[in-house]
Amino acid sequence: MGERTLAIIKPDAVKKRVIGDIIQRYEAAGLNPVAARMVHMSKAVAEEFYAVHRDRPFFGSLIAHMCSGPTVILVLEGNDAVKVNRELMGATDPLKAEPGTIRALHGASIEANAVHGSDCHETATVEIAYFFPDMV
Ligand code: ADP
Ligand code: MG
Repeated sequence: MGERTLAIIKPDAVKKRVIGDIIQRYEAAGLNPVAARMVHMSKAVAEEFYAVHRDRPFFGSLIAHMCSGPTVILVLEGNDAVKVNRELMGATDPLKAEPGTIRALHGASIEANAVHGSDCHETATVEIAYFFPDMV
């Protein structure tokens, strides 16, 4: 049934009340939600999820943002789901994201950029197992 990827609607987008708009865009792009959870991340959970960025200068601030309110975490399934979702999201910096992408529409800054999406198939497998251990 196609590929799976992990998406997170970040605290800035939840506060902006665009959960429904973002999920509608996933569905319209052929990315079908097959699992979902609403999670207010603890520091430990966010730090482990973003461990690859541990040495980056923005790490502390990124973790603070991810823990600043609830998130919506989804597993999306469809053909080429990882790539389709990355295209739908747009570039990390909303100012550089293609018009019409989720980040161009809803991102507030390079940090508060509305959504997370797995960057490759292998990462998706690890990220899905982290938040949905029963799915693997
Ligand atoms: P992406 O989410 O597009 O895969 P990265 O994996 O490079 O981007 O970064 C993870 C997250 O860290 C970004 O989505 C963003 O929230 C934050 N981030 C990335 N680069 C910066 C930066 N230069 N300053 C502040 N936050 C950043
Ligand atoms: Mg990334």
